[in-house]
Amino acid sequence: MRKIAFGYSTRCNIKCEHCVAGEDIPGTLKIELDQAKEIIAELAAAHTQGISFTAGEPLLYLDEIAELIALCDEYGIYTRVVSNSFWAKTPELADRSIIKLKEKGLSQLRMSYSRWHQKNIPHQNILNAAQSCKKNGLDYFISFVTDFSEQDDPFEQYLRDNSLKFFPEPVIFSGRAESFERLPLRTDYQENCCAMNPYLTPNLDMYACCDAGSHFTKTNFFYLGNVKESSIEQLFKKSETNRLYNHIRILGITAIASFAGFTAREIIQYRKCELCEKLFNSPDTLATLQQEADSGLTSWYR
Ligand code: SF4
Ligand code: SF4
Repeated sequence: MRKIAFGYSTRCNIKCEHCVAGEDIPGTLKIELDQAKEIIAELAAAHTQGISFTAGEPLLYLDEIAELIALCDEYGIYTRVVSNSFWAKTPELADRSIIKLKEKGLSQLRMSYSRWHQKNIPHQNILNAAQSCKKNGLDYFISFVTDFSEQDDPFEQYLRDNSLKFFPEPVIFSGRAESFERLPLRTDYQENCCAMNPYLTPNLDMYACCDAGSHFTKTNFFYLGNVKESSIEQLFKKSETNRLYNHIRILGITAIASFAGFTAREIIQYRKCELCEKLFNSPDTLATLQQEADSGLTSWYR
């Protein structure tokens, strides 16, 4: 099933300390509305079944995003918008945006929430947005970004106290969060497989991974190409047929790291995206893994 994260604009109205957007990313990169419509038509022709509008804050362009959602709806594409809920200051204001998005066919709203977001956006906005979704029949969930420290407990409790639907999402130590202190992990030896949905940036670069994929600067491992030079169908195919990407999807990062010589004790010290970065943002390790993609790695399955 083809799904993509659609970066409509890198512009955001707040500046979270943990944002994966590095300082080098221009603040106003944006796709023109007509061009975005053409891309959605191409995505539909390539049988894309889900589009998640993301990047900076998409709802700074509410009218344009609403038009794009309506277009996706015509093509039968599932849509999600990822938002910091700045627009939900009061229940009435929340309703105004939610009713419009729902009427245009939005499938799901995903609200970002964390101790970093909430330095700029009142908790009440999240509550207003979620309650409006419930009232107006729009599916939602809250993405609770956390580094699993005790500081986050009251933030999680707020969601529980208000009976809100949320899922914890580990902070990605990339971009502005690069220098954050990492707390020791207490996890098992996990597979760490990734679905790897591609990400389209506002300047039409497409990456195979929608999370930290665009920050692999030493190898550009996840870069698929630019939509001005290749068709979306070609770029999807590239993502789907790359042997190493498929090993990430099926074998998982942990087994690849073990194959590459990392000790089990070292592997469990890294978070998933950090381990991925150790493997695929190292030109030497990547060269070895590319050589082994069709041989050694294929025999490393249990
Ligand atoms: S994390 Fe989201 S809300 Fe915060 S600055 Fe980045 S894009 Fe904006
Ligand atoms: S582990 Fe790698 S492929 Fe998976 S989300 Fe992180 S950067 Fe992307």
